[in-house]
Amino acid sequence: MIRDGVHLSLWQEKVKTYKPVFESVHSQKFDVIIVGGGITGIATALALQTRGKNCLVLETRNLCYGTTGGTTAHINTFLDTPYNTIIDNFNLEVARHIAKAAKDVIKKIKSTVDTFAIDCGYEDCKAFVFAQNEKQVDELDKILDACIKVGVHAAHSKDIPVPIAFLKAMVINDQGKFHPVNYVYGMAAAFEKAGGIILENCRLIKADESGELIKAETEMGNFQCDHLVYATHIPPGINLLHLRCTPYRSYAMVARLKSGQYPKDLIYDMADPYHYYRTQLIDGEEYFIAGGKDHKTGYEQETDACFESLEQTIRTHFDISSISHAWSSQYYESSDGIPYIGHLPSHNEKVLVATGFGGNGMTYSHIAAEVIQCIIFQEKNELIDIFSPSRLKPIAGFKNFVEHNFDVVKQLMSKALSLYEDKNFESIPPGEGKVLKIDNHPIGVYSDGVDSIHIVSAVCTHMKCIVKWNTAEKSWDCPCHGARYSIQGKVLNGPADHDLEYIHHSVKENV
Ligand SMILES: Cc1cc2nc3c(=O)[nH]c(=O)nc-3n(C[C@H](O)[C@H](O)[C@H](O)COP(=O)(O)OP(=O)(O)OC[C@H]3O[C@@H](n4cnc5c(N)ncnc54)[C@H](O)[C@@H]3O)c2cc1C
Repeated sequence: MIRDGVHLSLWQEKVKTYKPVFESVHSQKFDVIIVGGGITGIATALALQTRGKNCLVLETRNLCYGTTGGTTAHINTFLDTPYNTIIDNFNLEVARHIAKAAKDVIKKIKSTVDTFAIDCGYEDCKAFVFAQNEKQVDELDKILDACIKVGVHAAHSKDIPVPIAFLKAMVINDQGKFHPVNYVYGMAAAFEKAGGIILENCRLIKADESGELIKAETEMGNFQCDHLVYATHIPPGINLLHLRCTPYRSYAMVARLKSGQYPKDLIYDMADPYHYYRTQLIDGEEYFIAGGKDHKTGYEQETDACFESLEQTIRTHFDISSISHAWSSQYYESSDGIPYIGHLPSHNEKVLVATGFGGNGMTYSHIAAEVIQCIIFQEKNELIDIFSPSRLKPIAGFKNFVEHNFDVVKQLMSKALSLYEDKNFESIPPGEGKVLKIDNHPIGVYSDGVDSIHIVSAVCTHMKCIVKWNTAEKSWDCPCHGARYSIQGKVLNGPADHDLEYIHHSVKENV
């Protein structure tokens, strides 16, 4: 499998092989077309197909090409937006519904693994959260109180399973972990066995919603459907949800521990941004996985430095013999802290979406599958209103909404303000890229350090922000809404659906 970054994730390398049955199909009508072959798309497709819907999954590249291939796969009922914040932003009842839905997901994943005999190393475990200063202690007590109020089984803990100093800790029972790609492959196989079709290397180019049926124009022909689901992590095109979701980059690293003592549970500190730790057993080998150093996409000058900083953090606490993998990936944070699942605003009501999962996509992907099937089968479920993308919450998330869009406006303005005329390609270090301004046009220049230079327009095709160079993943990333492009300007991640204009490729002497 390939992923949307240059660094190999653990899951990419230590993975079973799976190839979808079909390489192409004749144009035909489906009940539901699901766009996106990550955990959300495949969980949704499996749920619908096993209930009798005839489904087609479209995936631009290969299954788990997106963030599912770069996740760290903690399966939590304890969420990044803690229940005290959900209670403040919404109310206790909403928080209780979300907690129950999260607990149901753990049961659902376990039953999916059992029913379809999925060999993904699923294990039950606990989660530990620890505070290291008085402010964090105060916050930890609030988080614990709220967990208890909403019915998540949590308590104070005297110990944590890692050698890190702390003041106070809590433990949450009934969490899980697995190999995310092997899990998705298992669900994909079950989906195909139930009669579903997956087309890899098949990008949805356009959806025409004007008729009774939705027409999907793809790289492999045109299809029709009653419902279309965007499980693309962020929907393509320009939509209200792009104003309400902020893209973030997070970093992960896999190490071998000299002690041979690999913690079985999920562990989190309370730094801002926090660090997270866990172990996965694959083919008899223990892999210690650490993550963190999150920042808004495009807001870190030297993303390589985030790997160095993460390694330093791990080495401070653990005796490491080697580091085998280091990768980064992108997630989207919603402005009020909970995802948007349901009808895509300003579209035909048969067009559905699931986005804004933050760092809890393992859990929220399955909540999305549940909500989407209830909408399609017209069944009642409190979660439909709670996660509705059209929910009106003037207070909840307003501050984040304003901050995010203020940042977007600043990025748009920077086009005019901060770039100065610069034609000095020599200033670009080998294997790096830089945005320069030539004849008033911002361009992205990448030099391979040998003889080749690639030049693309630096104007994001989504909403015209200026892209930034991501040193770690060797990509052009848009700080506004998270669109990402390869060195040659090819779309790696939405919401952009057009490549950057490719201006020039030449050997250095001829530039
Ligand atoms: C470093 C990191 C660590 C994380 N750790 C955790 C964790 O421990 N626990 C947790 O719960 N969550 C975690 N998350 C979040 C979680 O990984 C994501 O929320 C989840 O993987 C999103 O899955 P998805 O299927 O919605 O999106 P993706 O996996 O991104 O899948 C979307 C797919 O859509 C495809 N696509 C896009 N556009 C089109 C198109 N036009 N046509 C066809 N296909 C298209 C893409 O190629 C992609 O494969 C983490 C995130 C990061 C970045």
